[in-house]
Amino acid sequence: MDTVDVLVVGAGLAGLHTARLLAAQGLDVLVVDRRRSLAVGIRTTGIFVRRTLDDFDLPAAALGPGVREVLLYPPSRRSPVRLRSPRDEYRVADMAEIYAYGRHAAEQAGARVLLGVRFLDVDDGRVTFAGAEPVTARFVVGADGARSRVARSLGLDVNRRLLVGAEMLFPVAAHDTAPTFHCVIDPRVAPGYLGWVIDDGRHAHVGVAGDLRRMGAGARRHLDAFAADAPARMTAAGPVERRGGPIPVGGVLRRIAGPAGLLVGDAAGAVSPLTAGGLDPCLRMSELAAAVTTAYLKRGDPRVLGRYSGTDLRARFRGRLLLRRMNACIRTPAAAEAAFAVLRTRAGRAAAARILFGDGSFPDPRLTAETLVTTGRRRDR
Ligand SMILES: Cc1cc2nc3c(=O)[nH]c(=O)nc-3n(C[C@H](O)[C@H](O)[C@H](O)COP(=O)(O)OP(=O)(O)OC[C@H]3O[C@@H](n4cnc5c(N)ncnc54)[C@H](O)[C@@H]3O)c2cc1C
Repeated sequence: MDTVDVLVVGAGLAGLHTARLLAAQGLDVLVVDRRRSLAVGIRTTGIFVRRTLDDFDLPAAALGPGVREVLLYPPSRRSPVRLRSPRDEYRVADMAEIYAYGRHAAEQAGARVLLGVRFLDVDDGRVTFAGAEPVTARFVVGADGARSRVARSLGLDVNRRLLVGAEMLFPVAAHDTAPTFHCVIDPRVAPGYLGWVIDDGRHAHVGVAGDLRRMGAGARRHLDAFAADAPARMTAAGPVERRGGPIPVGGVLRRIAGPAGLLVGDAAGAVSPLTAGGLDPCLRMSELAAAVTTAYLKRGDPRVLGRYSGTDLRARFRGRLLLRRMNACIRTPAAAEAAFAVLRTRAGRAAAARILFGDGSFPDPRLTAETLVTTGRRRDR
């Protein structure tokens, strides 16, 4: 039976980045993903925020044009609130290219990546799969998304508060107008969250996300209703792709590490409860996960796992969890219109700009990571 230092389950952004960092520390790393190709089954819109673009090297060719303007629409779609930043705040990435880049970087660092392999269970280091022979792993990293099977196998916490998101991609012709991020707050089509239209330079992404219980199995129906009345023009062609999936918004889970493994990314609930952005948290949390795993495997000291504490990270989310609960209370179009009356005030606009353009996304755990691993490269980009 093949033996590895670390098995990473999931070749999304969190898994590939963690694998790359672990392999760069000289560990023997195997990544498995049930997808047969990383270019299919993409779930995310791929909006990267400025803070991520500043702090992490992403391939420039994979990024769409910078977006500086956000339009917030009430249910009536009338008189949207316009917010403008002097800087590029968002770029929408071609996620197939981002995953290809992440895979290449992980392999260059020495990790092996096996696709078409589904993780089934881990018991005392023996890992079983559908699509591959079992392996023995000293440690398992669960980067297998919002409904993590690894979390269940390791007896760690699982996500319970979920949004469900769905989107369609329509081809757009090249245009000279500045791209805009259109956000619609309308509980009829996106209960508890919002609908959006944003352009990556080649496609318009038209999506909705809402509370899982309130959207039910009807996410697609909500999306069709939203697209029929979407605030930005789309081409007649398409949609050329559909995406979607669950989004954990209950905050980072408390128990995310144990002696047999740990969780990163969506599996750990590392998504902003307010904006539902998970790409920045994936990257930041992977750095801490890789540092803790390396220190644990190299020193054999289980106390180091205490540094990977969901409870500590969670404490930094209190404000955003509260705002998320307030947002969930907007249950009728009338309540949303009333919220817009507040949003149109000077203070309301300033608060919205802070959320949309501010620097406060996921807590940055890199300082902790630096103190854990004193030798070797912290970053290899
Ligand atoms: C519709 C939608 C739009 C979104 N838009 C944005 C956005 O624009 N910006 C943003 O910041 N965030 C966005 N998010 C959230 C963001 O996409 C996620 O937080 C992020 O992609 C999570 O990355 P991950 O690597 O943790 O998990 P994933 O990308 O979900 O990767 C998990 C991987 O694990 C694999 N896997 C699962 N189970 C198994 C198994 N048993 N065996 C083997 N492999 C397995 C899956 O195939 C998958 O490749 C969006 C989410 C949704 C649903």
